[in-house]
Order: sequence, then structure tokens, then C-alpha cells
Amino acid sequence: MNIAKPHSIIVDRSGARYMNEGGSYMAFCKNMLERNRQVPAIPSWWIMDEEYMQDYMFCGAMPGAKKSEGWFVSGFLKKGDTLEDLARACGVDAAGLTATIEGFNANVDRGKDAEFGRGDRAYDRWLGDPFHRPSETLGKIEKAPFYATPVAPGNVGIFGGVVTDTYARVLREDGTPIPGLYATGNTTASVMGRIYPGAGASIGPSFTWGYVAAKHAADAGNSAV
Ligand SMILES: Cc1cc2nc3c(=O)[nH]c(=O)nc-3n(C[C@H](O)[C@H](O)[C@H](O)COP(=O)(O)OP(=O)(O)OC[C@H]3O[C@@H](n4cnc5c(N)ncnc54)[C@H](O)[C@@H]3O)c2cc1C
Repeated sequence: MNIAKPHSIIVDRSGARYMNEGGSYMAFCKNMLERNRQVPAIPSWWIMDEEYMQDYMFCGAMPGAKKSEGWFVSGFLKKGDTLEDLARACGVDAAGLTATIEGFNANVDRGKDAEFGRGDRAYDRWLGDPFHRPSETLGKIEKAPFYATPVAPGNVGIFGGVVTDTYARVLREDGTPIPGLYATGNTTASVMGRIYPGAGASIGPSFTWGYVAAKHAADAGNSAV
């Protein structure tokens, strides 16, 4: 996702920002679920301005490219000549959204996200735009038209599953391997523990342990011959 790029923020239905948008997917979704207990925040709205659309990819569309008409018809992408128009189109509180963006833009001018610390961590800056100055991730939302798209939590992986050893063999509760049974991917307990640090944390271990399992099975097969 490009949500940590400059000129964009996430708001709930009251128009308020409630997180550092530069966090990992996991932190992002946890924040949204938590926020939804207090204020309707599922979906939340990803707010962008024209500068964002000109400079960055949006859901596979190249920077500056005409956006699919179908996106506007289906409601996947909303557009407004003013922030008030955009808020109305999204069912978001217009005064809340306007106040949030005024506050955010003032923080951008000061070069510091005083509320949520977006840009304080190398992680946020890496997800931003390395060529954007003065901040890789903070950019004002001021150039009309304005855009929004709904964002809801999803599932890209799990942390539970069978426990395996260094050869990807499935272990019994007593810690001994079950001969001939290997596992990798979402069926196993994650090598990342209970954290999903970022993109690759799922597919990387899946294919690595697939390789480890296949190699061990092949070696075991060879030694049995
Ligand atoms: C939108 C999206 C974006 C993602 N982006 C990333 C990313 O950028 N980086 C990253 O690391 N991860 C990403 N992930 C997560 C990652 O793709 C998955 O966690 C990973 O593919 C899981 O691999 P797996 O082999 O464990 O399971 P799967 O890829 O789900 O494979 C399980 C296979 O088992 C088959 N199957 C199920 N039941 C049976 C049955 N009874 N008999 C036979 N076959 C069966 C299924 O058809 C499937 O082919 C993303 C996921 C999504 C949804």
C-alpha cells in the first residue's frame, strides 16, 4: 500500500486522524479495529489530494494516469472539488475532516507530525517517498480535487499452526518429529512469532521452509536407499 506516501492520511467517519499511517499492515489493522470500538472506523477513509495522484501509483494506476471510471461508479474512489464535497461523498463529518487536514497541514509546515509521530521512524520514511523533501512521508493535502477510498482490515496471514523444527518437520507435543510429515506457510507457527513486520514476512518464510522441507525429505530419501 502507498498510504505512507506524502499528501495522504487515514481518517475515521468523524473525519479524525487516529494513527501513524506509516506502520506495518498489522499495526495499521490493529489501530483500525481498536478505533472502531470508539468511533465508526471500518471502513476508514484514505484521503489524498491531486498532488498525490500526480506523483504516486494508486492501486495499480500509474502516477498522473486517468483513473478508471468504474472506480467512481462503484464508489471505490470518491472525488470532491473541495474537502466538504469529498466528506459528503464519503459520509464523513465535513467539519471534522476540514479541521483534521488544517491541523495536519500545519504539522507538515513544522516538519513534524506532533500527533502520531509519522516520519519519526526509519520504517515510516522507507514506506514514504525517498525523493520528497523535507519529509519522505509528510506532505500537505491542499491541491484540489481531493480523493478518498474506503479501507478495511483484511487477512494476509496467520500466526498459529503446527510447530516445526529446523528441518520443517512437524513436531509432536513432546517435541519429537513426526517422520515424513513436513509443513510450511500459514499451516505453521510463524517464524516471526506473533508479529507481522511487513511485506515478505509471509511469502519469504513460506518458500524458504518449503525448500528446507523438500531438501530434508530428498536427503532422507537418498540416505534410506
Ligand atoms: C492481497 C494479499 C497481499 C499479500 N501480500 C503479501 C506480500 O506482499 N508479501 C508476503 O510475504 N505475503 C503477502 N501476502 C500473504 C501471502 O500471500 C500468504 O500468506 C501466503 O501466500 C500463504 O502461503 P501458503 O502456502 O501458506 O498458503 P496458500 O498460498 O494459501 O496455499 C495453500 C494452498 O492449499 C490449497 N488447498 C487448500 N485446501 C486444500 C485441500 N483440502 N486440498 C488440497 N489443496 C488445498 C489452496 O488451494 C492453496 O493453493 C498477501 C496476501 C494477500 C491476500
